Amino acid sequence: MIFVDKLKEKKVLFLDDWKGLTVARKVVQCTFTLYSIYIGYKFYHFYLWATGQSQIYVPRPPSVEAFLPISALVGLKQFIFTGIYDFVHPAGLTILLAALAISLLFRRGFCGWICPIGLLSEILDWVGRKIGLGFKFIGLYVYPLYSIKYLLLGFFIYMIFWKMDIGQTMAFLKSPYNLVVDGKMLLFFLEPGRISLLVLTGLIVLSLIVRNFWCRFACPYGALLGIIAFLSPLYMRRDDKKCAHCKRCSEVCPGGIDVSSRSSVRVAECIGCMECAGVCPEKECLEPVIAGRISLNPYIVGLGVVLLFLGAWLAAFLTGHWDNHVPAYMWRRFYMLFMGR
Ligand code: SF4
Ligand code: SF4
Ligand code: SF4
Repeated sequence: MIFVDKLKEKKVLFLDDWKGLTVARKVVQCTFTLYSIYIGYKFYHFYLWATGQSQIYVPRPPSVEAFLPISALVGLKQFIFTGIYDFVHPAGLTILLAALAISLLFRRGFCGWICPIGLLSEILDWVGRKIGLGFKFIGLYVYPLYSIKYLLLGFFIYMIFWKMDIGQTMAFLKSPYNLVVDGKMLLFFLEPGRISLLVLTGLIVLSLIVRNFWCRFACPYGALLGIIAFLSPLYMRRDDKKCAHCKRCSEVCPGGIDVSSRSSVRVAECIGCMECAGVCPEKECLEPVIAGRISLNPYIVGLGVVLLFLGAWLAAFLTGHWDNHVPAYMWRRFYMLFMGR
């Protein structure tokens, strides 16, 4: 106990002092982002081998399927209607299921703690404000912009869950396109066309000007997680009696939510990042609560998100639902046949 108290004194342990939340979240986000970069690097070398541009074999990392959300959504439909787990991109489906489970328990914690695009979006927001471009973009006038992500999500849901029958769903998952879709996605970034470049540049510029533009207004994956988060018993509660009305919580919120004007935050834009609790100077004024009754230490939320995500990975890995077990020579054949290079 004396050792723990000493660590607390030296601020090595800051579980009582929520100021360390930002650092803790950044460490988690950076870890997942660095791992994603490593995965991208490995996949690039696999791609070179599979397309015959290199003779050095590098195994295909299953985690690359995290970047195939549409394929994962099709896999989810197959799983719901037939109970068959997608065996072409099982890791993609596992990651989607993990993100949905996290949303159910910890709001959009996947966005707030794990997704590398979320971190990139926050970095662009930070840069934008440093060079005097960025602004928070909050208020009633932003509401029409939220419709972009819901329209995109509605389109995908309509196409996958309404237009495709179950036979077409299963056929899509086994189609040549879906087999090499990760390679096509890589190609999109390696050799972007003029329109793709224009769209990417537009998104970067918008993200420099408008706080977290992509995540708040355009990402259909985030929109889906936000809808599921409505069912979550967890939300932020602000006690007006203890509040100093300093508005720091509203200043830092990556979701652009005016936290200081609400008694509770249950909106789809809350990414469960706990930044607002971390900056609040008043003790027990702003904290996450379960069903309005049980107050939670915000660190528990971050820890829960990470453990649930890693637990899903471990369960999938141990039960054979992570790697698709396609032999290396088959991958090379698929890529040679279907990449159209
Ligand atoms: S909104 Fe989309 S891109 Fe942003 S953090 Fe969430 S899943 Fe990632
Ligand atoms: S309300 Fe708090 S937990 Fe939710 S997104 Fe804003 S800062 Fe993060
Ligand atoms: S940071 Fe805390 S004290 Fe300041 S306005 Fe928000 S809830 Fe109130």
